[in-house]
Amino acid sequence: MEVYSLAKADWEERLSLLGEPRFRAGQILEWLYKRRASRWEDMTNLPAPLREKLSAEFPIAPLEIVRESGSGDTTRKFLFRLEDRQLIETVLIPASPALYGEASDRRTVCISSQVGCAYGCKFCASGLDGWKRNLTAGEIVGQFLRVGALGGERINNIVFMGMGEPMANYDNLLRAIGILNASWGVGLGARHMTISTSGLVPGIRDLAAQPLQVRLAISLHGATDEIRNKIMPVNRKYPLAQLLDACADYVRQKKQKLTFEYILIKDLNDTPDQARLLAAHARKLGAKINLIPCNSVEGLDWERPDEPRQIEFLSIVRRGGADATLRREKGSDIAAACGQLRLQAEKSFAQSKPLN
Ligand code: SAH
Ligand code: SF4
Repeated sequence: MEVYSLAKADWEERLSLLGEPRFRAGQILEWLYKRRASRWEDMTNLPAPLREKLSAEFPIAPLEIVRESGSGDTTRKFLFRLEDRQLIETVLIPASPALYGEASDRRTVCISSQVGCAYGCKFCASGLDGWKRNLTAGEIVGQFLRVGALGGERINNIVFMGMGEPMANYDNLLRAIGILNASWGVGLGARHMTISTSGLVPGIRDLAAQPLQVRLAISLHGATDEIRNKIMPVNRKYPLAQLLDACADYVRQKKQKLTFEYILIKDLNDTPDQARLLAAHARKLGAKINLIPCNSVEGLDWERPDEPRQIEFLSIVRRGGADATLRREKGSDIAAACGQLRLQAEKSFAQSKPLN
């Protein structure tokens, strides 16, 4: 997937090594990202010998689909196999009035940044199996292109909320975002991309200092160190005060609203106290709160609170002066709980003979 890891300057450099003029870079990028060509032989304005050289050196291999779930106008989850046979998940959330409660033309792709995750949050399927490796920039961009082609419609929104912790694969993530954002690349506005992090303070601070107007979502899931420590080991390294401070820095630098993701877990973080504190944190930062009833994950015991309890939590947060929504639609396992499909597949592959 190196072909999708290269920025314009990289192509210019590679081409000059091949004794080719720089303008070929623009031609190649136009084919890859504007016309979405997936074969070198289709790039008819490149000389045939160059096409041959390029196809030998930079094979274009779309991500291999292993499994797909969901269909039609609902969410579709794709399980992809990478060149080294590792599995990742990508989710397509099509424009759907039913999902957003209002007419929306947002076609969102939820992208993975790593194979597995090292952070081991206690409710999350992605971390259950540990961390395998970082995705390359090309594998990140490749998910966008592949799902776009499979979905048949142009995607206009990206959330880095798939498997893995994007801030722990920071360099490749930024390289991928550069390609997705650039006018010579995909050309998607940075405001249409959201990075979700469990709270890696150095990444948040670094991103705050970048000119890129990419959006930030914080997986908070607890309004105190006590609760966060119970379910998110990352909080021991970057406690809440440090995290909120870095968030304040982000908001100040970018002049943007950030989002707090808060999954509701029965008898754990769903108390009125947590709701009040959460509201206070959000109000201070002008952050928006997304409440998400947690999904059950095979092998983990957490349950979501019943609906009246969810609604009570929401109303306490709102009374606390914060802007909050509760995800209530059916099939709400949409982008959340990524990693489950892979986990199921890993299990069934382990039990059965490999397909090839
Ligand atoms: N590592 C990053 C991004 C990937 S997780 C992060 O943690 O933010 C994407 C979102 O899915 C996070 O908000 C995560 O907390 C949430 N999630 C994980 N397990 C879940 C579950 N069982 N139910 C609901 N949401 C879950
Ligand atoms: Fe990793 Fe995010 Fe899952 Fe935590 S919630 S284990 S950081 S993917």
